[in-house]
Amino acid sequence: MKKLNSISILVPIYNEAEVLPELIKRLDEVIRNAGFRMDVVLVDDGSTDHSAAIITSTITGRENYSAIFLSRNFGHAMALSAGLEFIGDAADAVFILDADLQDPPELLPAFITKMQEGHDVVYGVRKARKEGFLKRFFYKLFYRLQNRFSNIRMPLDAGDFSLLSKRVVRHLNSLPEESRYLRGMRSWVGFSQAGIEYERAGRHGGDSKYSTKALFNLAFNGIFNFSEFPIRFIGRLGIFTVMVAVIYLAVTIYKKLVFGTVPEGFTALIFAIVLFSGVQLLSLGIIGEYILRIFFQVKQRPLYIIKSKLVKGEAADE
Ligand code: UDP
Ligand code: MG
Repeated sequence: MKKLNSISILVPIYNEAEVLPELIKRLDEVIRNAGFRMDVVLVDDGSTDHSAAIITSTITGRENYSAIFLSRNFGHAMALSAGLEFIGDAADAVFILDADLQDPPELLPAFITKMQEGHDVVYGVRKARKEGFLKRFFYKLFYRLQNRFSNIRMPLDAGDFSLLSKRVVRHLNSLPEESRYLRGMRSWVGFSQAGIEYERAGRHGGDSKYSTKALFNLAFNGIFNFSEFPIRFIGRLGIFTVMVAVIYLAVTIYKKLVFGTVPEGFTALIFAIVLFSGVQLLSLGIIGEYILRIFFQVKQRPLYIIKSKLVKGEAADE
């Protein structure tokens, strides 16, 4: 059984002024009922509404609240990465939560119980979603496609809502990749992982902070960061095309020998076109393999820039 003496709740926030008061209220309740040391880390992802001001005024002077403010909007994954790195080794486990209360913070005890059974990662599995039909459909489709193509097994219908052990946090923090698909990285890290089913509520207030573009970006990251399938597919298409060319040639030669008549010139032209199309696709696939590797290797820029910090309710120098 794992000993859990301290837990940090990590919440990324982007323009959530509408839900912040309710969020803090519910977090306070969870902390009060916890029975051990618990603190909250809020990451303001460059909000342009009053979120930062609300955070500052609510948590200044409060021991178990910390906040970091990113210098601009870096996106959900980066906000989470910033928070995870900020927490580092300070907590025995990190509970990742959305600000909009779609993931109920009150489920924490259930997550803790599961972790104490010996899991390093406990993630929420969305049983039902109170979201539009189209969004639900694309989510379902995406998770299944991704699972089909991905190199590693990722749980279906699981988002970022999760409880991570200290060592998983440490390993996540040590992954330098720039294009961060946290759900995938979480699976990639390994250890024992288990899911808890829950009903995903609707947003407490405001609109989704994920634009359709950002959502597609997320999906692309999910597919391309953990799958060689697209590149491999080009190579396979190349092999297939070359085979078609060879079969075409064989059939033509057979016809020539048996019937003695094939259209002159035309046949050679078709053969050459198909063959070299295949060779080109194959070459692209090979070059793609290298580019993929260079691409991942080369992206080593800083993940985010912190503008300022509020540590344990106190302003601190950056
Ligand atoms: N979020 C963020 N940066 C962004 C977009 C979203 O930190 O650029 C936060 C947002 O405040 C929320 C969480 O990420 O706490 C999930 O966003 P949202 O609820 O809008 O996504 P959805 O539930 O619609 O997928
Ligand atoms: Mg949401």
